[in-house]
Amino acid sequence: MRMSTLFLRTLREDPADAEVPSHRLLVRAGYIRRVSPGIYTWLPLGLKVFRRVEDIVREEMDAIGSQELLFPALLPKEPFEASGRWTEYGDNIFRLKDRKGADYLLGPTHEELFTLAVKDVFSSYKDLPLAIYQIQTKYRDEARPRAGLLRGREFVMKDSYSFDIDEAGLDKSYQLHRDAYIRIFDRLGFHYVIVEAMAGAMGGSKSEEFLATADNGEDTYVRCTSCGYAANVEAVRVPVPDSVPFDGLPAAHVEDTPDTPTIETLVAAANADHPRPDGRAWSAADTLKNVVVMLTHPDGTREPLAIGLPGDREVDEKRLAAQVDPATVSPFGEEDFAAHPELAKGYIGPGVLGTTHQSGIRYLLDPRVVDGTAWVTGADEAGRHVFDLVAGRDFTADGTIEAAEVRDGDPCPSCGAPLESARGIEMGHIFQLGRKYAEALDLKVLDETGRLRTVIMGSYGVGVSRAVACVAEGNHDEHGLVWPRALSPADVHIVATGKDQAVFTFAEELTRALEGSGVSVLLDDRTGVSPGVKFKDAELIGIPTIVVVGRGLADGEVEIKDRRSGERRSVPTGTAVAEIRAEIGHG
Ligand code: ATP
Ligand code: MG
Repeated sequence: MRMSTLFLRTLREDPADAEVPSHRLLVRAGYIRRVSPGIYTWLPLGLKVFRRVEDIVREEMDAIGSQELLFPALLPKEPFEASGRWTEYGDNIFRLKDRKGADYLLGPTHEELFTLAVKDVFSSYKDLPLAIYQIQTKYRDEARPRAGLLRGREFVMKDSYSFDIDEAGLDKSYQLHRDAYIRIFDRLGFHYVIVEAMAGAMGGSKSEEFLATADNGEDTYVRCTSCGYAANVEAVRVPVPDSVPFDGLPAAHVEDTPDTPTIETLVAAANADHPRPDGRAWSAADTLKNVVVMLTHPDGTREPLAIGLPGDREVDEKRLAAQVDPATVSPFGEEDFAAHPELAKGYIGPGVLGTTHQSGIRYLLDPRVVDGTAWVTGADEAGRHVFDLVAGRDFTADGTIEAAEVRDGDPCPSCGAPLESARGIEMGHIFQLGRKYAEALDLKVLDETGRLRTVIMGSYGVGVSRAVACVAEGNHDEHGLVWPRALSPADVHIVATGKDQAVFTFAEELTRALEGSGVSVLLDDRTGVSPGVKFKDAELIGIPTIVVVGRGLADGEVEIKDRRSGERRSVPTGTAVAEIRAEIGHG
């Protein structure tokens, strides 16, 4: 690669829409260019990095015996109708019609296709276990494409699936993939954590995410300050306290609490007018807050949902969204309140909530609201609250929901020590899919006894294009990118500076010698470009080893510079090839 002819222009200015360093630097250094929101072109340097990531992923998948295939991106609607996802996906998929008016989509993910392919080709338990994968472009009409490659509308994913006859087989396949993922992410060179994730609609089975740690990541996870527990905040389970016996608990009583539509005003009024008999002050944690939201199901039907949780906690939008998925959540609007006059805004209580009560609204409780706990909560009349309302004695609900915010210091569900939160970017997701797709699409094989058995599947994804951004996110400084060697678009960046023809001649010779020994080189052979500009570009582009051929050549020396540490040393021209090879680990 020669800078004089390379299809590249570096930019001095940050792109206006860039929110995160990787986006800013990948655009400025000429790796990618935006075509439309969430849609990017890979320029030559970017494509080289992308291919290196792809190669690492491919090598590790091949190493566990997974076989590569490639599905089309343009898909007919029928398999997605069979699985229910044609409607479930809602606005998140790109839909199109062919000339005859038939419906198609651009694949957002390919469970259906994998399942149908195996059904087409295999029919016996003897064919299993099977693992197949592809590295392929996906399309999702993301509500908020952002951060360049991190959340695109067109992006590349490695998706693999395992097919087994039984749970024990699935466990093995899952473990193989988990180990392969550890090798992939170790090789990619960013810091990551493995966290427990939502198992999704299937429930119960194993699901883990590989998150790159990043302060600006979209995912929040918690980790235990004592044991090894870590989980995506969506998947955190609240340790359920023991229920309390009812005996001796005071009877519930309704009190006037004028102008107390918020938890804060309620606590103040309770302390002023209705002090606790035990002398302790009321706190927000003594109140039961009832939040009503509107769910919209994939088929468009709307359903109100009420959530009861301790008043010192908010509903966490992401946790709630994960619980009700594929339904989406919106606020309960004025018209919705108008349709439910029994809901006294600001004073809603368990008295009217629940499918068997007046409102008919499904009512789910935070798991902390166990039987025998007593609460101050709305009396379903403006300006009134009920005190000493005991769960299980005075009210019941339709079930529980994990939708309350998780806070630093909350007890670890595994050991009880305090949890702390941090942020990350989801790089990979492995989970035991179970039989959902095999059932929907009727993937069965004959078992040893000649009976048809539904195949059990595992699903394993890596964000390949996202990984490029993620590596950049974890490997840069104020001057530009600093690629790990395994991913750099070239092994060495040779910068020829000055006007002396001998410099260019030697730089070219050195490049050829290195290339001849299997080292890839980006040579800055531009004439009429100042050394300052060339050095700035080299720092921006971020190849880990920079070799300067310039003034020192007259004394028979070139300079080798480490992009990351800034350390530099001069070496004699005669041994430059060997020195450079040693520097980059080709020695
Ligand atoms: P997210 O929760 O971030 O939307 P997801 O859970 O929907 O992602 P999966 O369907 O599990 O994503 O996809 C597998 C992998 O593909 C993810 O772990 C992530 O690395 C990558 N990925 C998903 N969506 C995008 C996107 N819009 N742009 C780039 N990569 C993505
Ligand atoms: Mg995921």
